[in-house]
Amino acid sequence: MALSEKSSSELSSFLQTQRTAYDELVAQGLKLDLTRGKPSAAQLDLSEELLSLPHGHAAADGTDVRNYGGLKGLTELREIFADLLGVEVDQIIAGGNSSLTVMYDTLVQCLLHGAVDSERPWSQEDKVRFICPVPGYDRHFVLLESLGIEMITVPMTQDGPDAAAIAELVKDDPSIKGMWVVPTYANPSGAVCTQEVAAALTSMPTAAPDFKIFWDNAYAFHHLTEEETKSADILSLAAASGHPHRPVVFASTSKITFAGAGVAFFAGSSETIAWFVGHLGKRSIGPDKINHLRHLQFFKNADGVREHMAKHRAIIAPKFAEVQRVLTERLGEHDVATWNDPAGGYFVNLDVIDGTASRVVELAKGAGIALTPAGASYPHGDDPVDGNIRLAPTMPPVEEVTAAMEAVATCVLVAAAEKYSNAT
Ligand code: PMP
Repeated sequence: MALSEKSSSELSSFLQTQRTAYDELVAQGLKLDLTRGKPSAAQLDLSEELLSLPHGHAAADGTDVRNYGGLKGLTELREIFADLLGVEVDQIIAGGNSSLTVMYDTLVQCLLHGAVDSERPWSQEDKVRFICPVPGYDRHFVLLESLGIEMITVPMTQDGPDAAAIAELVKDDPSIKGMWVVPTYANPSGAVCTQEVAAALTSMPTAAPDFKIFWDNAYAFHHLTEEETKSADILSLAAASGHPHRPVVFASTSKITFAGAGVAFFAGSSETIAWFVGHLGKRSIGPDKINHLRHLQFFKNADGVREHMAKHRAIIAPKFAEVQRVLTERLGEHDVATWNDPAGGYFVNLDVIDGTASRVVELAKGAGIALTPAGASYPHGDDPVDGNIRLAPTMPPVEEVTAAMEAVATCVLVAAAEKYSNAT
């Protein structure tokens, strides 16, 4: 029976039962963590061979990877990721270990020098604003906040950002210089941006002539089912609609090989690449090509990456299945939460009754379960309805995911029962 339909006496006995269950949880002294989307040790072990690579130190063209140079990264590795991301080789470069760093660099270059198609540096504008689909990736928002860029939220739908709402905002406001999109298995909603939404975003008229789509394809290959959903073809769509320089594309192998020692990629129009490399050349004489060669020898080709991702899936899909099972069994009948069943990525998005998300996180903490702070998926950590919680089940072993989710379900029920009891 839905909690909202219970009489006040039914509600108070329900609350009592859940509080008893909660007290038992606390007594267990659990210490579990569902906070950040990190790969588990078993996933990292899949790439252990990297630690004994590369064999030799020559790239196919004879380049000695131990030396300086090669700002765009090892061509053969770029070829593999160009193939996987559906771009041309001259539209992609391979860099250091973190795509977040590349995003930061891109924004800073835009602020200091202007983008490839800017009239002046963004820092010379009165105000710079960005569109942020919510719920979204907390580090995107923190990055903008640290650079003084204002954030305007729009809803994230299961087909990608709300393109109509965005078109309405950007058409008359030149201070809106860009937007974030996590196009494939978004963090945290799991949404996949359709080709139609991507086409709408690349073709919409924008008051800022240098409007940018920060296309962060962090989970492009991170399928949780056998269906390998293809990302929308953002660069081709942008070129076809006459805005070839609008998208800047980011990806990395952080959740493919080693989260701290993978390879990041940056893609865009050939002019965007030249712009980026021009600035990059002032801050670096070349990337870690030994790491590039190591990754090349490990994967061999694009199919090598696909096969490797299937091994990740075998490890993490059962954890996501546990999250679904526990949520459905424990919360389904009470109508106190909704959640997504993602086909890929690293997160499950749990929406609880408005006004109870922080209470759930607080209760969980009291029972030894670390959850991402409520509101983290919103700019400034401010979820206006206090209803959203991001769950990240990849890191703990499956039995811990089960225990943590059982505890989360109890906390959701306590918080919901408290809320309804106060209202009656
Ligand atoms: N983008 C998104 C959407 C992410 O979820 C993450 C990792 N949590 C990153 C970027 C970070 O990528 P990297 O390790 O390449 O810096």
